[in-house]
Amino acid sequence: MDKATQKAQLILALRKEGIRDARVLEAMETIPRELFVEPEFQSKAWDNSALPIQFGQTISQPFVVGAMSAALELKGHEIVLEIGTGSGYQTAILSKLARRVFTIERYKPLLRKAQERFEKLSLNNVVSKCADGGLGWPEQGPFDAIITTCACPMRPDVLLSQLKVGGILVAPVGASSVQELLRYRRREDGVFEEEALMDVRFVPLLPGVSG
Ligand code: SAH
Repeated sequence: MDKATQKAQLILALRKEGIRDARVLEAMETIPRELFVEPEFQSKAWDNSALPIQFGQTISQPFVVGAMSAALELKGHEIVLEIGTGSGYQTAILSKLARRVFTIERYKPLLRKAQERFEKLSLNNVVSKCADGGLGWPEQGPFDAIITTCACPMRPDVLLSQLKVGGILVAPVGASSVQELLRYRRREDGVFEEEALMDVRFVPLLPGVSG
């Protein structure tokens, strides 16, 4: 099967699985996932599955990327913070859906590779740094939307404090290998509404930086 057919099948599968946001589907059709996948997994680049990258990390399953992107309800004007750049694939999708994306990765070599990909695709609205994303990026906040692509052991209060009123944070929360994907909305009265979206499996959010 050629790449175009594999891609068309994946987009169809995402639609069938319930991803209806046309902008999300378009972004996933536009961003070449093969650029974010290691050489040995090229033939699987358009499969609906997570794949290993380096340092025991993974590029997320397209369905999960689509579901998390849609859950942020982006219209195009937003400033987004992402924790866990990894391969940079989710970042690249977000860059097509929002005005600017700030992304943080704790492994320097992973970040460097992701930065090369952003450059190659001329994703000029992505700003990235190597740091402990658990601390957020207060100098650039508050944010319209925050997404964590590593599992937070508990409610991510530090990140929630960097969310604008009306803003949405989507994160896997839980200390075991399966977590709940939670969506928080910051209300005007300061309360965070919490909604469980689905079960997911993410690598844990770790403290500090590495590499
Ligand atoms: N969205 C990525 C998924 C990467 S996996 C993709 O599409 O490829 C999760 C990433 O979170 C890993 O790269 C891991 O190193 C990173 N991570 C874990 N803890 C972190 C922290 N405290 N700060 C920043 N990144 C972190």
